[in-house]
Amino acid sequence: MERLAQRMSRLGTETAFDCLCRARALETRMEVVHQEIGEPDFATPVHICEAAKRAIDDGWTHYGPSAGLPELQAAVAAYAGGLRRVRFWPEQVVITPGGKPVMAFAIMALVEENDEVVYPNPGFPIYESMIEYMGGRPVPVRLCEERGFRVDAEELAALVNPRTKLIIINSPQNPTGGVLDREDLRLIADTALRHDCWVLADEIYSEMLYEGQFESISQFPELHRRLIILDGFSKTFAMTGWRVGYGIMPVAMAEKLARIQTNTNSCTASFTQRACIEALRGPHEPVENMVAEFRRRRDVIVEGLNRVPGFRCRTPAGAFYAFPNVEGTGIDCRVLADRLLEESGVACLAGTCFGTYGNGFIRFSYANSVANIEKALERIGRLLAG
Ligand code: PLP
Repeated sequence: MERLAQRMSRLGTETAFDCLCRARALETRMEVVHQEIGEPDFATPVHICEAAKRAIDDGWTHYGPSAGLPELQAAVAAYAGGLRRVRFWPEQVVITPGGKPVMAFAIMALVEENDEVVYPNPGFPIYESMIEYMGGRPVPVRLCEERGFRVDAEELAALVNPRTKLIIINSPQNPTGGVLDREDLRLIADTALRHDCWVLADEIYSEMLYEGQFESISQFPELHRRLIILDGFSKTFAMTGWRVGYGIMPVAMAEKLARIQTNTNSCTASFTQRACIEALRGPHEPVENMVAEFRRRRDVIVEGLNRVPGFRCRTPAGAFYAFPNVEGTGIDCRVLADRLLEESGVACLAGTCFGTYGNGFIRFSYANSVANIEKALERIGRLLAG
């Protein structure tokens, strides 16, 4: 296309959506097990849906404040603070259409031409895409299988320098399921403070945790003046299509992000925000039941993947992805992911969709029933045996 802005050539994408389209097209001639897309297969809890319907009837169908409805900001501050065992104020909260805009807006607000941004690789592909789009320099920090895919804090420290504007971390992590412990977080916070750079902590999987309690870098109060937390409703409450997320940050930064929203999407839909107040204040059992079910599925898929010749899979401590090393098959992970989709009807993503250091791995989302996971395992086994 002609006369597009140069930066458009630097905008990447999230391959999961492309793979979903290919899998849907294939479905006209074969049955496909979907393990590509990262969304809970559970219905949004009924009490949340009811609250949305009531909100529409009550007239919550107009513009609202750019930063979000004050009642939801207050509910988020209390809920997110409780989960992290820290104190947040409602003015620190910006409600956004999904968690993803927090990522984009934070990078837009902070990153200038040639500023360096350190981010996990393999990792969520939108970090790199948005850094490049804004003209920043992406500096990947490698996540290694041997460390349980936790960032090596020393390696990260070695990548940070006076040009570093932002460090992005993600725990529990997509695509590896790795979880950072308190000591990792402390070392990362120390590095950020030493160089006075910002931290974007992507905590969208904060409640998809199978061992221990959730640790957040926000537990180090000295970092709060340089910290943006990203979280939301998509994963925790099975609300991916509702598009509500939030950022928690210093008040002055919250004003800047709200200003970006005024300039882009104006605000997040009002009736979905009302439903989110109910999500945070209403019964929590649906979340607990969903997480318990994910844990059960995790154990099934990890055990099954480790039985596949040439596969080696660590047990992820969080999120809902298994990330086996498939080098032992002797097949390139991109070729294997394609063959699994086209020949076996198992939709999954090559590790390279998450960056160069994802080479040799495949990501399977286990947001699917145990019966489907078992069907996929059987098909994977058959492909590799034949
Ligand atoms: N961050 C990570 C690591 C994710 O995996 C996702 C979604 O897959 C998001 C953010 C975006 O979530 P949302 O759907 O709320 O925009």
